Amino acid sequence: MDQHTFESTLVPGIHVIGDSSVAGALPKSGHTANNIGKMTAAAIVSLFRGTKPPLPSHVNTCYSLVGPEYGISVAAVYRLDKDGQLAGIKGAGGLSPMEAPPLQRSQEAGFAQGWYESITADSFG
Ligand SMILES: Cc1cc2nc3c(=O)[nH]c(=O)nc-3n(C[C@H](O)[C@H](O)[C@H](O)COP(=O)(O)OP(=O)(O)OC[C@H]3O[C@@H](n4cnc5c(N)ncnc54)[C@H](O)[C@@H]3O)c2cc1C
Repeated sequence: MDQHTFESTLVPGIHVIGDSSVAGALPKSGHTANNIGKMTAAAIVSLFRGTKPPLPSHVNTCYSLVGPEYGISVAAVYRLDKDGQLAGIKGAGGLSPMEAPPLQRSQEAGFAQGWYESITADSFG
């Protein structure tokens, strides 16, 4: 598939989103599935209008709750590289540090809950 528009290269006019897509370094996650859906909708509107689809910028964030007050996370940003492949941008995003103090773990647990409420509202209304 074309990683700019998520249009299938096997079946023109069909766009493949979410876990079914194979998009370079972009991980399969609920966050990216939500992101891909929006970028693909924008690309389809552009294609209908005969204009160039916007260059996609994808974000992934995954939180894991290890305990009620103990959260960890991974985040990254992806853009098309010169070969048309979605690749991670160096320096954007990051991982929870291994030696984070309890306050940071507890803050990340709160961020995880906030992320969940936000993505659920955004996806399902
Ligand atoms: C244990 C686990 C933990 C995860 N944790 C996270 C996380 O913390 N953060 C995160 O962002 N992502 C997480 N993910 C990944 C996330 O769940 C998926 O990436 C996301 O659900 C993909 O969405 P989707 O709509 O592409 O596919 P799905 O959510 O798999 O939806 C596909 C739907 O199609 C239906 N279907 C399949 N075949 C047919 C058919 N022939 N006819 C009709 N319907 C059909 C299925 O029943 C399903 O409802 C996790 C996944 C797992 C398994």
